[in-house]
Amino acid sequence: MPTIDGARVVADLRRLADFGRYKTGVHRPTYSPEDVASRQWLAEQFAAAGLDPVIDGIGNVFGRNRQAARRLLVGSHSETQPYAGWLDGALGVVYALELARAFAADPAGAGLGIEPVAWADEEGHYGNMLGSRSFTDGLTDAEIAAAASRDGKPLRQALADAGYAGRPYQRLDPSRHVGYLEAHIEQGATLETAGQRIGIVTAIIGAWNYWVTVTGEQNHAGTTEMRRRKDAGVALVRLATAIHDRFTAIAGPRTVWTIGRMLLDPNAPSIVPGRAEMQVQFRDTDTAILARCEDALVELVAAADRAGPCRIALTPLSKSLPAAMDSRFQAAIAEAAERHAPGLHRHMPSGAGHDAQVLARRLPSGMMFVPSIGGVSHHWSEDTSEADIVLGAQVFADAATAILQNEVD
Ligand SMILES: [Zn+2]
Repeated sequence: MPTIDGARVVADLRRLADFGRYKTGVHRPTYSPEDVASRQWLAEQFAAAGLDPVIDGIGNVFGRNRQAARRLLVGSHSETQPYAGWLDGALGVVYALELARAFAADPAGAGLGIEPVAWADEEGHYGNMLGSRSFTDGLTDAEIAAAASRDGKPLRQALADAGYAGRPYQRLDPSRHVGYLEAHIEQGATLETAGQRIGIVTAIIGAWNYWVTVTGEQNHAGTTEMRRRKDAGVALVRLATAIHDRFTAIAGPRTVWTIGRMLLDPNAPSIVPGRAEMQVQFRDTDTAILARCEDALVELVAAADRAGPCRIALTPLSKSLPAAMDSRFQAAIAEAAERHAPGLHRHMPSGAGHDAQVLARRLPSGMMFVPSIGGVSHHWSEDTSEADIVLGAQVFADAATAILQNEVD
């Protein structure tokens, strides 16, 4: 089995965290100068590992393996959320780099190829998993033209500033890869709470998002009698609690739902709101449960609209589909985890979205978690113990070896 160098993994993670360091975390939004510099650094590390580095037209960084007959694509994303953690996607990218080096150094790795990749913009600064979707399906010109950052910078401008504009896009060639393997921090507290060290992801949740618009009548808060009001704010809040109550009754054991954004117009203390809006999101790994929640949401909005006095409309925003991880890949991770951390691993769904859910549509895919201290992520204090980082890298390497050897046998 290729043996990873734990100290080198930790040192590379710390070096990568220098690009955009913020407190103990990192601020490295996609296509920022720090992100562009870090992608260049990764390309140099891939070259030093004997791979042919390619940064493509969307900013994905690949380490192309010349030697191997059968290759496993391995990686994660390297940009971060604003003022966020140093591990998030970086962990999986550095594991992939270390795997490539460990395989190249081990005679048992001959003919077995690791191809590391650092995807661009999984975190959605400009779009939704732009890098992995560009690789699997291609992005349309229309989508690229329409995409912009939250502060309004067009994606095309960002790609031009980064120096990526006009470069070819790398596209999936299914005959080249036996599958895709990704490691990531858990970003939750399931493993830590259970005293476990490795999570074997069974499926990645789908997230469905809707926008609710309530139209009432804006008026004076002192002179408008209660019986005459069409208060959009009251209607919105009533609907929100009805949704929460109904979902509590019909959801599955792992369903989560969130109303994370609410707007009142004009949002002033002495004005009856004339308009109110909110975003409703729910997540599950089971499409049937997602569909059940959608039916309930449609019904509740229609009922609230009929009841008046405000008009209420529902607009679907996005629906990502749940993605099952390949059962053979799960078995390979579980066997490796049992070897290095007997009894301290579990199968679990991922409540967060990941590039692996995009890859899983085209390639057999697997995903592994290491614990997050306190379950904290998307915050600069995000962390994982060095022991868990190093253990995870070796489990990951063993799993990759088993997957590739099974393919060759
Ligand atoms: Zn991530």
